[in-house]
Amino acid sequence: AITADELPFSNSFAELPPAFYTRLMPTPLPAPYFIAASADAAALVGLDAQTLAQDDFLALFTGNRVAPRSQPLSAVYSGHQFGVWAGQLGDGRAILLGELPGPQGPMELQLKGAGLTPYSRMGDGRAVLRSSIREFLCSEAMAALGIPTTRALTITGSHQRVMRESVETAAVVTRMAPSFVRFGSFEHWHYRNKQDELRLLADHVIQHWYPELAGAANPYKAFLAEVTRRTAVMIAHWQAVGFMHGVMNTDNMSILGLTLDYGPFGFMEAFDAQHICNHTDQGGRYSYANQVPVGHWNCYALGNALLPLIGTPEDAEEALDVYRPAFGARLDELLHAKLGLFDTREDDGALFDATFGLLQANHADFTLFFRRLGELRLEGGPDGDAPLRDLFIDRAAFDAWAARYRARLRAEHSVDERRRAAMHRTNPKYVLRNYLAQNAIEQAQNGDYAEVRKLLAILERPFDEQPEHDTYAALPPDWAAHLEVSCSS
Ligand code: AMP
Ligand code: MG
Ligand code: MG
Repeated sequence: AITADELPFSNSFAELPPAFYTRLMPTPLPAPYFIAASADAAALVGLDAQTLAQDDFLALFTGNRVAPRSQPLSAVYSGHQFGVWAGQLGDGRAILLGELPGPQGPMELQLKGAGLTPYSRMGDGRAVLRSSIREFLCSEAMAALGIPTTRALTITGSHQRVMRESVETAAVVTRMAPSFVRFGSFEHWHYRNKQDELRLLADHVIQHWYPELAGAANPYKAFLAEVTRRTAVMIAHWQAVGFMHGVMNTDNMSILGLTLDYGPFGFMEAFDAQHICNHTDQGGRYSYANQVPVGHWNCYALGNALLPLIGTPEDAEEALDVYRPAFGARLDELLHAKLGLFDTREDDGALFDATFGLLQANHADFTLFFRRLGELRLEGGPDGDAPLRDLFIDRAAFDAWAARYRARLRAEHSVDERRRAAMHRTNPKYVLRNYLAQNAIEQAQNGDYAEVRKLLAILERPFDEQPEHDTYAALPPDWAAHLEVSCSS
């Protein structure tokens, strides 16, 4: 078996001039312990989960050992936080180890929580066990849902104390992505009036991750358009599964259109389009409904930063115009699939609006609704509809909606069994509800990591019935209503 020291790290980001990062070593943690690893993520860098539990890998992925070929560094970036220019930020607790080859191309490996960096500002460079478990599980859950995301390879912990609202303990998540460059990486150079660096970064990103755009008439415009398109697609997937990011600051927006930086995220339960998952987000800037315009706003901020390279504001605007149609087309596709509609009809948009209106008026559970909708039979009545119908307070409103839905299904000669199978492949039974994460966190805080591993295994197959795990698909218990997640991590 391969040892940690033999890992064939390279680091293409380190080819950029030193102004883009600081080389540094992670700060070791006392007596690290292994918590969990994702076999699916490990396969992306040619490893297996058992290997990651070995002592040498445990040390490597806690930051207690550095592989000889790794050139660790922390990157600088800036960004807009909650709509306000925040100036310089940077990897305050993330350290890039380098990249490893894999079947789908090289993946960068980054330790999150591995100690102070020049960009730590007021922070301690650490991440707590609680938020690390959330990031680890959600990264892998999102990947299994088919949503573009950074990955989580492994999570380790230490008894080292970390001060937040209360005393917690430290953990490290090793996350992976082809690149961790953010919108804010470009904004950084734009706001400093450093056009050479701006161009170097754009050329670097295009060369490595968008080589097909290098020959475009205006590669920077094509780049902005493609990032805008990917961002719109990513957010369409968020909306369709009820995922709320919670902190869509431009420093948390991936240049590859990946869901990045899992903090106070949430999955929609009782549907409310205005729901705010992040307790720190008082104004609801990043509410469920606002994710769509905010995604566009963020692309706009990127476009503004790239303007000196693109040339004219008209060209930038044209690239940004990709957002609405790309979002609309993907969401429309996803909603057709969620409702089990194979054809498209002119008034499907009105049916979708009515569906969300019904969910909103009844605050029905988002995930259970779509999952149970797959069980609806064309010839069923109120009795057969019971499990689904029970999610609604206003039964008459549900019945009226169901009649309209059935009429639409009949119009395309929908077949129950075929529709059910297709819907269950697109509407997950299992998502990372806050209460599920909380249960795993509390057990882990008591030294038992079995629940983290079990939850990972369930969430890796979100569309499978897994009848033995039915309780993990249940509505949140009463105590979950008091759960608050904030930026504290
Ligand atoms: P976030 O809201 O998680 O995207 O973090 C915003 C910025 O704060 C980023 O530059 C992070 O690296 C930095 N940061 C967050 N928490 C810490 C911490 N505990 N120590 C150092 N930097 C941090
Ligand atoms: Mg961040
Ligand atoms: Mg964060």
